[in-house]
Amino acid sequence: MRLVLLGAPGSGKGTQAQRMQARHGVPQVSTGDLLREAVARGTPLGRAAKAVMDAGQLVADDVMLGIIRERLAQPDAAPGFLLDGFPRTIAQADGLAGQLADLGLSLDAVVLLDVNLDVLLRRMAGRRSCRRCGRVFHVESNPPRPGDLCADGRPHDLFQRPDDNEQTVRERLAVYAERTQPLIDYYERKGMLLHVDANGTLNEVDERIEAALRKRGQAPFSQG
Ligand code: AMP
Repeated sequence: MRLVLLGAPGSGKGTQAQRMQARHGVPQVSTGDLLREAVARGTPLGRAAKAVMDAGQLVADDVMLGIIRERLAQPDAAPGFLLDGFPRTIAQADGLAGQLADLGLSLDAVVLLDVNLDVLLRRMAGRRSCRRCGRVFHVESNPPRPGDLCADGRPHDLFQRPDDNEQTVRERLAVYAERTQPLIDYYERKGMLLHVDANGTLNEVDERIEAALRKRGQAPFSQG
C-alpha cells in the first residue's frame, strides 16, 4: 500500500499514520520527523532546515525530494508507505510521481484529512510529542494512559514542538493554503483523492479512513 496523507498542520496526519502502520504493515514516513531528527543530530541539513522550520516556511523542494528518495529506498518501505507531510507542493508531487515511475510504481490513493479551523488550532495548542519514541499525544483528547510507557519502559518524555506556538501556527496555515492546498485539486483531477471528515475522535477518524480505503479496494493487509 502506497498512500499519501494530506491535510493542514494539526489535521492528524501523523497521529493517524502512527495508528495505521501496524494495521497495514507499512511504515509512516514523516518528512517533519526526518527533518527534526536532522536538527537534533546537528547535521548540515538540520542546521539549514531549523530556521526555515522555526519560521513555519517550507524546506526547498529539491532537498525534500532527496530526503524522500533516500527514505523510500530503505527495505522497510518496499511493501509500501504512509507519507505524512509530503508532498507539500506541486513540484514535490510531480517529483514523487517521477521517482515512483522510475521504479515501476505509483501511489494507490491520497487521503485528505478535512478538519475545521477551530479544531486544527485546538489540536496544535495541545499537541505534545515524546522526545524519545516520537509518539504524538494531546493533553486533553489523547494523553498517555496510565501504564502506557515509552519503548525503554520509562514514562514518555513529552515536549511541545517549537513551531506549535501561535505565531508560527498562523504562518504554517498560510503556507498550507498557498502551497499545499493546490494538491487537493491536483490529486482530485487524477482521481486519487479520498475525502475523510477528520473532525471527531481518533477512533471515529480511524474508522472513516478505513471505510474510505475499503471502498476503494485498499483494505488493510490483515484482512487480505
Ligand atoms: P510537520 O511535522 O509535517 O508539520 O513539518 C514541520 C516542518 O518541517 C514544516 O513546517 C516545514 O518547515 C518542514 N517540512 C516538513 N515536510 C516538508 C515538506 N514536504 N516540504 C517542505 N518542508 C517540510
